[in-house]
Amino acid sequence: MRYVLIIMMMVGAGMALAQSGSDGLGDSYYPQLGNGGYDVQHYTIELEIDVDANTIDGTAMIEAKATQTLESFNLDLSGLTVESVLVNDEEAAFDRDDTELIITPTTPLEQDDAFTIIVAYSGEPEPINDPGVPFLPIGWLRNDSIIATVSEPSGSMVWYPSNNHPLDKATYTLRITVPEPYVVAANGFLMETTDNGDTTTYDWQTDDPMASYLTAIYIGEFVVEETTLDDGLPIRNYFLADDAERWSEEFASQGEMIAYFSELFGAYPFDVYGSIVVPDDVMPAALETQTLSVFGESSVNPATIAHELVHQWFGNSVSPAAWEDIWLNEGFATYGEALWVENTDGTDGYNEYIAVLHDFAGEAGLAAPADPGISELFGASVYVRGALVLHALRAELGDDVFFDVLREYHTRFANSVARSSDFIAVAEEVSRHDLVALFDAWLYGAEVPPLP
Ligand SMILES: [Zn+2]
Repeated sequence: MRYVLIIMMMVGAGMALAQSGSDGLGDSYYPQLGNGGYDVQHYTIELEIDVDANTIDGTAMIEAKATQTLESFNLDLSGLTVESVLVNDEEAAFDRDDTELIITPTTPLEQDDAFTIIVAYSGEPEPINDPGVPFLPIGWLRNDSIIATVSEPSGSMVWYPSNNHPLDKATYTLRITVPEPYVVAANGFLMETTDNGDTTTYDWQTDDPMASYLTAIYIGEFVVEETTLDDGLPIRNYFLADDAERWSEEFASQGEMIAYFSELFGAYPFDVYGSIVVPDDVMPAALETQTLSVFGESSVNPATIAHELVHQWFGNSVSPAAWEDIWLNEGFATYGEALWVENTDGTDGYNEYIAVLHDFAGEAGLAAPADPGISELFGASVYVRGALVLHALRAELGDDVFFDVLREYHTRFANSVARSSDFIAVAEEVSRHDLVALFDAWLYGAEVPPLP
């Protein structure tokens, strides 16, 4: 009841004031990411990429719905040159202010209007230094023969304009044209490949809602390895030809992992999966880009393969509603590593994995995993202490109830977003336990509690 009243008051205030969509969505770490006043349904991103020159010529068609009256609204875009903006096929005025692209349509939009934005843009995408990722520039990474986008958390805005926050998920068409002999791998299904003579167009389609930070394109002379799992799930892995055999062996257990985690968490949440391996000089890390996880060469190992796969449930299907709740991604994925060890090495292996995490957390004096601060967004605590939250919960509830909690949490927030409070509420509801003390100690407590 109280929420309803507050929402009504906010709507009332919004209608009385200037009708501009807000330039952010109130994220405590990234106040400028995302924009208010509309909800994107579908992005069609068409890019012609000159790989040698490292330039793009792009058109972004964005289908959205106004959630308020809009005299103007913003998209997030970093760098690049905007040539024109159309709203409902009419030329719109636009302005740039840092990473905000401010658009003023000729005719204001009414609440609930469906509308289309077409942004024509071009230039050389420039990586950005995100304060949450101090160890790596993000957005657009390359060496002399490969381009990889790395968008978590803010980087997608260096290659297309968007509502750049997980609160506004949408479906995607990524239609990417590259010179021969390059291949484009991306999220979802490859619907069509068009040979244009000197260039090839790859038409990738994602029909499940996706957060902008999980969108990706990878360009290189990749070969594709396609298989179908017993349950019918298509798998496509992309490897550089010279190393294809080696990576094929390394990823051979991926199907078994999908079956195992589907049993624990509920059915794999998307309609396709696969992995792509790129050289470390392009990307010295791994990332769970939706339906196609990417691995720098030195990140290929069973634990990391399990980690990025588990993110498809926790992170990708259920995404953080606020970046301060990142442990809901990283703690779960790290705990997934321990679960895979349990599957391959038994209970002793699992206990040892957890003991190593716990020792490390204590020795390093890791702070609470909840709300780690932006510079520790991907710090050790959200991974290590985040995983220990789940270990402690499992010890308290027992296996049956614990995995019921995980399945219910995933089911309830699939294709959506959640906060820590949502997970705690599901855990208490499903288990009928008062878990305040447990989460106070393991999620919010400064000290690392002793292992249960
Ligand atoms: Zn992760």
